[in-house]
Amino acid sequence: MDFLIQSLFVWALTLTGYEDPNYLPDIKAVSHQTLATTLCKSSYCTAVAYYDKNTETIFFDNRMDIKTDDGARSFIVHEMVHFLQHKNGKINSEELDCKTRIEIEREAYRVQQLFLKEHHKDTYQIDMAMAVLPSLCSEQTENLN
Ligand SMILES: [Zn+2]
Repeated sequence: MDFLIQSLFVWALTLTGYEDPNYLPDIKAVSHQTLATTLCKSSYCTAVAYYDKNTETIFFDNRMDIKTDDGARSFIVHEMVHFLQHKNGKINSEELDCKTRIEIEREAYRVQQLFLKEHHKDTYQIDMAMAVLPSLCSEQTENLN
């Protein structure tokens, strides 16, 4: 597990070019219900992972099998990018304006796409998520996911 997390971290580091903070975020599996309560206002919730900058922890849906599934791993890589953005001073303020949010999400999705392509996985879901990014500016969401 540690080796896996380390290798996913190297992906995020290499593809972004951010400075290495020389330590890893914590990684914790949580229930879908916990994710939904934290990230979604309605009961319909598609979020599978998020990065909490206060505890420097990546939380992910415990139904995902990151030991074997490259698609699931790609979400950890995405959240690793948010960790690196945080440690490199990109998301310091509590309230990010929507333009900044779009920039940091676009970077994380771009890295996730490259990871998926490299592992011969479909990127449709990520392509769609990137396509709707501009709508972040019309919705108020609290957490990075
Ligand atoms: Zn994100």
